[in-house]
Amino acid sequence: MDDSHPVITVNQRGAARLRGGHMWVYRSDLASAEATAGALVQVRDERGKRLGSALYSSSSQIAIRLISSKEIAEDALPGVLRGRIASAVEFRRRTARDSDSYRVIFSEADLLPGLIVDKYNDVLAMQALTQAFDRDDLRQVVLGALSEHYPDVSVLERVDAHIRKLEELPARDSQLLRSERSSTIFTLNGVRFHFDGLSGQKTGAFLDQRENYAAAARYARGEALDVFTYQGGFALHLARVCDSVTAVDSSRPALEVAEQNEQLNRGQHRCGEIEWTEANAFDLLKDYATAGRQYDTIVLDPPAFAKTKRTVTTALRGYKELNLRALKMLRPGGVLVTCSCSFHVSEAEFLEMLGSAAADAGRVIRVLEKRGAAMDHPVLLNVPETAYLKCVICEVVP
Ligand code: SAH
Repeated sequence: MDDSHPVITVNQRGAARLRGGHMWVYRSDLASAEATAGALVQVRDERGKRLGSALYSSSSQIAIRLISSKEIAEDALPGVLRGRIASAVEFRRRTARDSDSYRVIFSEADLLPGLIVDKYNDVLAMQALTQAFDRDDLRQVVLGALSEHYPDVSVLERVDAHIRKLEELPARDSQLLRSERSSTIFTLNGVRFHFDGLSGQKTGAFLDQRENYAAAARYARGEALDVFTYQGGFALHLARVCDSVTAVDSSRPALEVAEQNEQLNRGQHRCGEIEWTEANAFDLLKDYATAGRQYDTIVLDPPAFAKTKRTVTTALRGYKELNLRALKMLRPGGVLVTCSCSFHVSEAEFLEMLGSAAADAGRVIRVLEKRGAAMDHPVLLNVPETAYLKCVICEVVP
C-alpha cells in the first residue's frame, strides 16, 4: 500500500476490538490520529501491524469504523461499497421478499457503517450518519448503486439535524435525490401506511417491528391496549383480530398520522374500533389500573429508556413499572407483547425484569415467543450493537 493514505495507530484495546470482529475504535483507543473528516484511513496497531482500512470521523467518539479488514486504496473504495450494497440488496431479496418495505442497508450490520437506507414501497429513504457517507463522491456511489438495484424507485435523503451536529456537518434539509416522488403508501403484512419523507409531518415506520406486528396479531384477541403506538404500527395490526383497541401515545402529530393510517385501512379489511388517546403512558397506565380496567391483549413498545450504559438501572425501573401495571390489567389467559429497543439492556436483563414484574403482580406468565428485529435488520454476532431489539410475547397462565 502506498503511503498517500493517512495512517491511524490504535492501542492494544482498539486492536483487540478489531481483531475480535468489531468495527469500531473509540477515540480514547487511538494512539495517533492525523486524518481529515470522513477520510479513508489505514489502521495499524502499535507494532505497525496492518488491521485494515476504516472511515474516519473527526468529531464522533467512534473515531474509526472499519470498512475492510484488508487495506484498500481510495480508488478501490467505490467498488467495495458497491459490492456491499449488492450483497445487502441480495440478502433482502432472500429474507424480505414478501414485503414492499424493509431496511435495505443497516449500517454496521451490512458492513456499511454510517449508512442507512429504508425502502417504503417505491421510495427509498437514505440517511448518512457519518462524515464519510456525507462525502459527495461516496453519496454519488451509493445513489448510483441504489438506482441500479431499484431502477423505478425514487430516492430521498432524510436528514437528522442532531446527527449532523454531532458529526460537525453543515446543516442541510431533507431533499429528493432522484425522481419526483417523496410520499407514497406502503404495506406491512397487508396493513397500509402513509409515508412522506419531506413534508413537515414526516412519516415512516419502525420497520424493525414488521415481523413482530404479524406475530402479535397471531395471539391478540378481545380488548387490546397498544401503549406507545406512534403512528399505529401495532394498533392497526391488532384491529384486524381484536374487538377494540385503545392506542396511546404522548405525541399528537404521531396520533394524527395514525388516524390517517386507520382511514387507509377501513374498508380494505376487518378493522375493529380504535380509540387514539393522547397521554403520558405512565400516568395513563396508573389511572387505568386504579380504575380497574382490564384487557385481553397489551402491547408495550416504549422508546429506548437506556441510551447509555450508565442509565440501565433507571431504564429497568421504567420497564418494570410499565410491565407490572400491564400484567395486573391483563385478564387470565391475556397476552402481553413487551418490547425494548435499548441495546444497553440485554435480553437476559429484560427477561429478569419481566419475571420480577410478574411475581410482583402475582401472575404466572408463560413465554410464547422471544423475538428480535425483523430479518432485514441483520444481527452480526461480533457486533453486539446490531442485536438491540427485544420483543417477548407471553400469556398470563389462567
Ligand atoms: N410502537 C410504535 C413505535 C413506538 S416509538 C410502532 O410500532 O410504530 C415510541 C413512541 O413512544 C413515540 O411515538 C413517542 O411519541 C412515544 N412516547 C415517548 N414517551 C412517551 C410517554 N411517556 N408516554 C406516551 N408515549 C410516549
